Order: sequence, then C-alpha cells, then structure tokens
Amino acid sequence: MGIKVVKFGGSSLADAEHFRRVAEIVRNDPKRRYVVASAPGKRTSDDVKVTDMLYHCYELVHDGKDITEYYNRIIERYNSIIRELQLDFDISGELEYIRNAILHHSGQDFAASRGEYLNSLILAKYLKFDFIDAESVVFFRDNGSYDEEKTNSVMRTELQKHRNAVIPGFYGVMPNGTIKTFSRGGSDITGSIVARAADAELYENWTDVSGFLMTDPRIVKDPLPIKVVTYRELRELSYMGASVLHEDAIFPVRNAGIPINIRNTNEPDAPGTMIVSSSGEYDANRIITGIAGKKGFSVITIEKDMMNSEIGFGRKILDVLEDNDVSFEHLPSGVDTMSVIVSSAALECNNRRERIVSSINKRVRPDSVVIEDGLALLAVVGRGMVKAKGTAARVFDAISAADINIRMIDQGSSELNIIVGVEDSDLDKALNAIYHEFVK
Ligand code: ADP
Ligand code: ASP
Ligand code: MG
Repeated sequence: MGIKVVKFGGSSLADAEHFRRVAEIVRNDPKRRYVVASAPGKRTSDDVKVTDMLYHCYELVHDGKDITEYYNRIIERYNSIIRELQLDFDISGELEYIRNAILHHSGQDFAASRGEYLNSLILAKYLKFDFIDAESVVFFRDNGSYDEEKTNSVMRTELQKHRNAVIPGFYGVMPNGTIKTFSRGGSDITGSIVARAADAELYENWTDVSGFLMTDPRIVKDPLPIKVVTYRELRELSYMGASVLHEDAIFPVRNAGIPINIRNTNEPDAPGTMIVSSSGEYDANRIITGIAGKKGFSVITIEKDMMNSEIGFGRKILDVLEDNDVSFEHLPSGVDTMSVIVSSAALECNNRRERIVSSINKRVRPDSVVIEDGLALLAVVGRGMVKAKGTAARVFDAISAADINIRMIDQGSSELNIIVGVEDSDLDKALNAIYHEFVK
C-alpha cells in the first residue's frame, strides 16, 4: 500500500476543535502514515501565532524584560488544547525547560522551533502515533544550508522503524547540535522532505483554503481554486507572493515526481489543487493559471548613449550588484537605457544604495543613474499562454482600463509568465482588474 505524507499548517492545528478535524482526516485514510505538524496558528484574524509569540519572548529576554506574563499565554494555548481533548498528558516539564532555555539566551531559532515541537508531541499523543523529533532527522551544514543528502538518508532509515509518526515541521539541527529553522512558513519544506524520504505517492498539504486559489483571497474576493498547477507555474506564483506554500517546498518532491495536493482542513471533501510535474491540459476558456503580486521593489535605471554597442556594459552593472551582495529580479533594457529591478529591502542595509550608485558611476560612466522605489511586481502565469494569442494584450488592456500606469513589462522567454511593474499603491487594483478580465 502506498504512503501519503500529510502536513497540517498552523491554522489547521490552532485549537482542540481543529485537532479533532485533523485526527478524522488522518484516520480516514490508512495511507496517511506520516504527519508533519506546524505550531498553533491564529484562531481568529486578530489572534497571534504561537511562533510569533515565541519570537517575541526571545526579544523580551534580549531586551532584559520579564517574560512571565507573555510565556504564560503560550502555556495556556497548549494547555487548553490538552484539556479540551481530555488528554492524559502533562507537558509542564517541557514548558518549564523551554522557559528556562529562553531565559538563558538559547538561540532565536531554538525558541521559535518549540512551537512545532510541543504541538507535535500533543498531536502524536492524540493520534497514538510515534513522535520523531526533527532534530534527529533534519540536518543543516555549518554554513547554514540545508543538507539534503544526509537528511534524506537518516530520515529514510528512521521512518522505516515507524508504522505511523508525527514529525514537527520548520526546524532541524546544525552540526554543533544547535537548533536551526527554515525561513517562515518552513513546515511546508519539512513535509516535502518527509514525503521524499518515505517514497510517498502523494504529499498532502492541509491548510485553511480549498486549494491554491487563482489569486490572493485577501485582495480579490473569492477567487476560484486552481485544479492543476505545474511545479514551474507554482514556483513563479509563490515567488511572487502567493504564500500558500513555501517557495522552496517543491524541491524535495519535484525530482522524485511526487505530486502535492493542497487541501482544506475545514472542507475535507473538496479536491483542492494538484501540483504536478507537467500537464498538457489547461482550461482553454481561462488561459491563465494564476496571478500573484508583491510590493517592495526598486528600479535602478542607467542611461548612456550608445550603451548597446558597448561590450561588457551589462556585465559591469551586474558585477557592481554582485560586489554588493544584491541579486536582481529583472533586467528590462532599451537601446540607451538599462533597468535593473531589485528588492528595496536589499538596498537598505549598509549604505548599499549609495555604494551601488557610486560604483556604477565609476565602472561605466553613464549619463545618469537613478534609483526609484515603490514598485510592485505582478506575475500573470499560465502554461496555456504559449498557445493562446493576445494574452499579453488582454493583461495590458485590463490594467489600462483600470486607469493604472504600467511602469515595466517583462515576458519570460518560456512564455509561461508575463511580469508587470506598477506602483505599490496600484497593486491590489491591478490584481482585481486582471483576474476579472480572465474570469468572467
Ligand atoms: P498554513 O498555516 O496552513 O501553513 P498559510 O497561512 O501559510 O497556511 O497559507 C495559507 C494562506 O495563504 C491562506 O489562508 C491565504 O490567505 C494565503 N494565500 C495567499 N495567496 C493565496 C493563493 N493564491 N491561494 C490560496 N491562498 C493564498
Ligand atoms: N510556524 C512557522 C511559522 O509560523 C512555520 C510554519 O508555520 O510553516 O512560520
Ligand atoms: Mg504556511
């Protein structure tokens, strides 16, 4: 019998009621043998995620402040779950140990990771599954990068010893034994790692929406769910802000050809979204698969007459960025101008902005260099676009009809996506305009 690895996000494990739903989902299919759990998320829109509370405790200690009251709120979140599930389980020793560790300046990652650790202990007890601590099966190298080979081999051997297990998401261990986390939302990555090591037939990622929606539901009202999306389309969408799945979560499963199914814990019968390696099918009526957008980009515009005939011009500009440790997103260019789009945050630290401008002036002696902030990028993504004529025109018409100024256009050579730059303040309006152009 095949194996399904199931990951439940924070909103799916936020309280006892959700634990019950999760247990029902897991018990409904004996293939669901390995469960990856997040820390308790928000119960209501103004609630605070336990992970954020743990980061806050770490900050309080760092600032020399008392954590008693705040930490007691974390204790109560876990105790209320245990109480309401009527579990005979005492985690007070664990909670005390963690409090002391945070007080004694354990690392920030250690503090943050305890959200998943504790929730997984409780879930394992409730499901009567074994508990496998992520620190014994997920490894990072000295330089902080994820060690895929070691993790895959150790995790594989460990899973074989357990018929059923719960594994906390989000963290692993450094060679010196300290805890390290992935970036925020990283439990999705752990789920993918476990799916690969288990040779799973499917990685189910359970969250609070009925699949990957065509666009961000916080910006466009009730967007339609996507039935099938390819890994490549998904990469484009998640990189550009569709945050339902961590952008690195596809790598472990992609090469192994394991599909991901995004499902809704609150609507378990909905089929959700299948993420697959390739699909020839697309909805001819809709053409595009999804739209995503992200704020916070800057444009560096370099002008110089006859730039096009100056060999090595572009390379010198990119060298300047590399020397300053800044990566670029897009490079739209004309005959006498070249624009480089970078993340504004990357320009902020260490006076990089000034250093980049002065190095460009020195290296290529341009007529002018200007940096403008406040750019938002949106990606219109679809494997169907290559076959459908006029998609770009429809995108631009929709944006213009909404009275939005387009600051940049870039169509990927794969014809999988069209990237449009607009003012930060126009992003939401632009997403709505494009969505309603393609979904009538
Ligand atoms: P989890 O806690 O299960 O990991 P996340 O909060 O990380 O869940 O991701 C799910 C959320 O992603 C949704 O509640 C939704 O608000 C947001 N989201 C953003 N873009 C999309 C999209 N295109 N489709 C679905 N959800 C999206
Ligand atoms: N709990 C972590 C976070 O809030 C990891 C995750 O939820 O995937 O980022
Ligand atoms: Mg998430």
